[in-house]
Amino acid sequence: MDLNSPLFDRIRIKPTCDDAKPSAGPGCERPGCARPGLYRAPKGRKQEGQYWRFCMDHVREYNASYNYFAGMNDAAVQAFQKDAMIGHRPTWTMGVGRGEAKPEAATRDWDYVDPLGVLRAAGVGPQGRQKAEPQPPRFSAPVRKALDVLGLDETADAAAIKAQYKVLVKRFHPDANGGDRSFEDRLRDIIRAHDTLRAAGMC
Ligand SMILES: [Zn+2]
Repeated sequence: MDLNSPLFDRIRIKPTCDDAKPSAGPGCERPGCARPGLYRAPKGRKQEGQYWRFCMDHVREYNASYNYFAGMNDAAVQAFQKDAMIGHRPTWTMGVGRGEAKPEAATRDWDYVDPLGVLRAAGVGPQGRQKAEPQPPRFSAPVRKALDVLGLDETADAAAIKAQYKVLVKRFHPDANGGDRSFEDRLRDIIRAHDTLRAAGMC
């Protein structure tokens, strides 16, 4: 590259010719403002990626009055907003309310906000389908307790109850334990549980 070419000379000398500002970067583009344009502000719709440069005061002023929808008719605005609802979200980062809208507000928009549980009650939404209402217990408390004593759950049928009862009586009967009577309490519980289940017609 030939740095001594006349082309470079032209570029180099240009600032000293017609620009009074020192080489501290571009100035604020607000007419009449001479401060450095240290802040960028988007120029707007159809000029995405283009920015004004402003000083702090004027970038604030610009952002406060910035209207992304300027120049759009109502139908176009509605179409744009509808589009945004379906998933086109840049509205919130580009446009209306810029500076005021919290980012969380934008991303939380389509979460389910259901403080009264209306959607949940209707079975709509992420929590609605989570679980069916707990079924009322099939058996009374004494029956469930008896099944528990026998080490069975509520799916046990009559055959299972009879078989388990037989096993447990054998295991905890003093005759099966060399006359050890320390299992008597347990055996009594097992017999009582079996009685309960038989009374309930379960075996
Ligand atoms: Zn300014």
